[in-house]
Amino acid sequence: VLGAGLRGNPLGGDGFTFQPLAARTGRMAEQDTAPLDPAFTVLGQLAATYLLVQRGTGLIVIDQHAAHERILFERYRGEYYRGTPATTRYLVPESLELSPQNALLLEQYLPQWKRMGFEIEPFGRDSYVVREAPALLAGKDVKALLLEVLDELALFGKSGRLEEVFNEILERVACHAAIRAGDALGKAEMEALVAQLVQLDINLYCPHGRPVWVEIPERELERRFKRIV
Ligand SMILES: [Zn+2]
Repeated sequence: VLGAGLRGNPLGGDGFTFQPLAARTGRMAEQDTAPLDPAFTVLGQLAATYLLVQRGTGLIVIDQHAAHERILFERYRGEYYRGTPATTRYLVPESLELSPQNALLLEQYLPQWKRMGFEIEPFGRDSYVVREAPALLAGKDVKALLLEVLDELALFGKSGRLEEVFNEILERVACHAAIRAGDALGKAEMEALVAQLVQLDINLYCPHGRPVWVEIPERELERRFKRIV
C-alpha cells in the first residue's frame, strides 16, 4: 500500500522530505468537526506546507493554507449570509491611524465593515478604533488586515461594487485567519483539516482560484517508476 511505502522513505532528491507527525493538538482540533471519512488517511506533512493524504491507492497533496483558507471562507460567507458573522470584542480596542485617502475609504464602507463583523469607530482626525472583529480573527493582526483591504479597495475606486467589497473582505479575513505555509501541524490538526475539507465540494479551489489539492493516482506513480509504460 502506498502509505506504508511512503513513510520514512523520501521520494528522491527534489525537495521532497518527509516530516514526522508532531504529537500536538491545537487550532484545527479545537473546531468541532465530524470525524474524517475513513476513505482518507492522513500520511503526514511535507515541508510544513502540504498535507499528504491517501485515498484508495492514490496520493492527494493538499496545500494547507489554501485548504484552510477555503474552509474559513465558506464558514465566514455562510455566517454573513445568515446575518452578521460571530465576533470577538476587544478588551482594549485596537487603534488605527490611516492616511486621509484610506480614512475616506473606510468611512465610505463603514456599514459594510459592520455587516462583516467589524465595529470600527472614528476617533479623531483620520484615526479609528476597532472594538469588535470577526471571531475568526482572534489573535490575528487585525490592523494589517484592514490596511490590506483598504489598499485593495483603493484600486476599485469610486466604482467599487458592494459585492466586490464584501468579497474582498471575506477573502482577506479567511486568508489572515488560516494556518500558514510553514506551520507545523499535529496529526489531530491535519485530520480535522482534511475532514472539514472533504465535507466541502471535492473540486476545490482557494478563494484566489488556486487549487487546494492535487491528486496523484497510483497509475501516475507506476508510470514514473516505469512499472508500466
Ligand atoms: Zn491566503
